[in-house]
Amino acid sequence: MAAIFAFTCSCCGKLHEGSPSFGYKTPMPFDHLSDHDKQSIAQINDDFCKIEHPEGTDYFARVVLELPIQGTEEPFLWGVWVSLSKESFDKYTSTWGEHDESDSYFGWFCNRLPYYPDTINLKTNVRPRNGGARPYLELQPSDHLLAVHYHHGLTVREAQSIAEEAMHGRS
Ligand SMILES: [Zn+2]
Repeated sequence: MAAIFAFTCSCCGKLHEGSPSFGYKTPMPFDHLSDHDKQSIAQINDDFCKIEHPEGTDYFARVVLELPIQGTEEPFLWGVWVSLSKESFDKYTSTWGEHDESDSYFGWFCNRLPYYPDTINLKTNVRPRNGGARPYLELQPSDHLLAVHYHHGLTVREAQSIAEEAMHGRS
């Protein structure tokens, strides 16, 4: 049986148990707004975000990226945001709770993850899920390290390095 992921942290010396899970409460374009604009042109909750610029509205959804860790049971989880077209966003929000799970929406990756080369605007497919689960994110194949990890999995050592950097910053 596959093992539970656990490691003794080289940063804080503690034993961190269970597959790592990190999330972002906002897409990066939201973080870049002024406090005034966050109040006046943006709407955000746990699942959706909308930013109404004069030149057009940007639409975002929160999704889950699962990276398999080789030899362990549970994947490395990232809660991240992607931007969607208006058409995709409208369909996603209007079919809430009764998605066609064979649907797939094109999305641009909208968070900058630690450890990796810049992850902004990686190409993704968003797969909606029912039953209260956030959509499952597929990364389109490329030679970007995050896409490689998505398709081929992480070694335990890589998972440990990424978790250490996500928890404690770059050492
Ligand atoms: Zn630690």
